[in-house]
Amino acid sequence: MGRIVEIDREACIACGLCASVAPQVFRLEGGVAVVYNQQGDSGETIQQCIDGCPVAAIYWKEL
Ligand code: SF4
Repeated sequence: MGRIVEIDREACIACGLCASVAPQVFRLEGGVAVVYNQQGDSGETIQQCIDGCPVAAIYWKEL
């Protein structure tokens, strides 16, 4: 069991917050945020991105 972080690409407005807070996990590609490295930062830091995303586009997906 575990979890991965995902992004709702339809909801993302490319504000850049997640890529700024956790640049080892998220980056902007073609006008949308993507997760390029699940292991790039701590769960706490990723949670900060989840909590800070203005459109709630980032979420944990339980495996
Ligand atoms: S914080 Fe949310 S809206 Fe902003 S780039 Fe990341 S996923 Fe997109």
